[in-house]
Amino acid sequence: MKALVKTEWKPGAMEIREVEKPSIRRDEVLIKVDYVGICGTDLEIYEATSPIPIKLPRILGHEFSGVVTEVGEEVTDVKIGERVVSETGVVCRRCVFCKTGRQNLCPYRSPIGIGRDGAFAEYVKAPSINIHKIPSNVSLKEAALTEPLSVASHAVIERSGIRAGDSVAVIGAGAIGLLILECAAVAGAEKIFVSGRHENRLKVASSLGADVTVNERKENPVDKVMELTSGLGVDIAYEATGNPKAVEQAISMTKKGGKVVLVGVHSKPLEKFNIHNIVSNEKTILGCWTHRSSTWDLALSLLSSGKVKANPVITHVLPLEEFEKGFELLRRREAIKVLMRLHP
Ligand SMILES: [Zn+2]
Ligand SMILES: [Zn+2]
Repeated sequence: MKALVKTEWKPGAMEIREVEKPSIRRDEVLIKVDYVGICGTDLEIYEATSPIPIKLPRILGHEFSGVVTEVGEEVTDVKIGERVVSETGVVCRRCVFCKTGRQNLCPYRSPIGIGRDGAFAEYVKAPSINIHKIPSNVSLKEAALTEPLSVASHAVIERSGIRAGDSVAVIGAGAIGLLILECAAVAGAEKIFVSGRHENRLKVASSLGADVTVNERKENPVDKVMELTSGLGVDIAYEATGNPKAVEQAISMTKKGGKVVLVGVHSKPLEKFNIHNIVSNEKTILGCWTHRSSTWDLALSLLSSGKVKANPVITHVLPLEEFEKGFELLRRREAIKVLMRLHP
């Protein structure tokens, strides 16, 4: 089969190769990939700047949808021909975290497309326990956003304890930031601020329900939030950039007693961390890591209900052969979500 392989740990070093189709175990299924998204993490691995260790050569790709073409002999709950997505974390199912529904914290977790071969390929395999069926009113294209939407809904709905009427700030208007905005709107946020550095993305934020957008190149997001909240700040600030400066902004723009929710993946430590601001103002800092098994059902039901829209976040669909263009569009932030289409 055709696959896009990261071959060496240096910028670029990715090529389309003819490789063996994955062979499945008794408890696994084989999926013919329809759409696969390029994630910020994929871009960092492509450019060899990612803090996540990875063994090469590796086929990346963890945001995908497709159709089941083979099932292992022990698989009873997934059938050939079904349209599916797969949880990315392959976990042990036995540790205290797996047993209490927090699979994202499993010490043995190995993500598809990072710890094992992923979906930048015509076929990908996954344990049947990871599989979720796509509701009939959700397209394969939209379903490819289930993974990033799971990241967003885990942060907003499962972790942050958002309540109707809360004021919210989202720092970062990439795919995750925009999906966080959509989840916050569904959860009943009263006023939503979104800050970013690119007009094209902020425009989409407005169309998806942001009340105020702030272009960081022109205005200071902290000042803007303070000005429009009578100097109080927001109940919850979500950081979705992985930039240490955004964490400082999130802490500064959060109301006394409020929450700072960290979703971005960080490769650098925070240099200026005002502990007194946290302590004396009783702010809560929450880390959010990927998603639980339950989050995937939540994300698919949000898509199926139509309350969260994936299509406005998808700006480009390209064939696998044009992967370089896809990475470049994402690097220049011209795109929001680039999908590659494997089977026309
Ligand atoms: Zn990702
Ligand atoms: Zn486990």
